[in-house]
Amino acid sequence: MKELKELESLVKKLNNKARILKKEKEELSRQGFTIRYVKCGKETCRKCKEGRGHGPYIYKSVREGERVKSVYLGKLTDVKEIDKQAIDALKRIDEEIQSIEQKLNNIKTVINILIKDIRH
Ligand SMILES: [Zn+2]
Repeated sequence: MKELKELESLVKKLNNKARILKKEKEELSRQGFTIRYVKCGKETCRKCKEGRGHGPYIYKSVREGERVKSVYLGKLTDVKEIDKQAIDALKRIDEEIQSIEQKLNNIKTVINILIKDIRH
């Protein structure tokens, strides 16, 4: 089936893109920048239930002698100009990964519906 081949290649492309983005994200993590999401634990919270939680919150690892400290940098708008470029990149990468994961999930959902439909 032609459509199935197209779908297969689309999924492959999305997975490849996600892999490249994750590598870029890791590289930025090596430079000390990380993005975190926090779950608040409230059962009624849609952000936590349906999404990744609250955030993104931006942190930078800073070496202090022997220890490495994780410093909270805050929201993108509060961040110093020197760090802004790296964090902008990190945020863009993070959003792209999220969008790809969403697309892959949508494809999975549709496929599952189709499988159920065919079986019945
Ligand atoms: Zn929450």
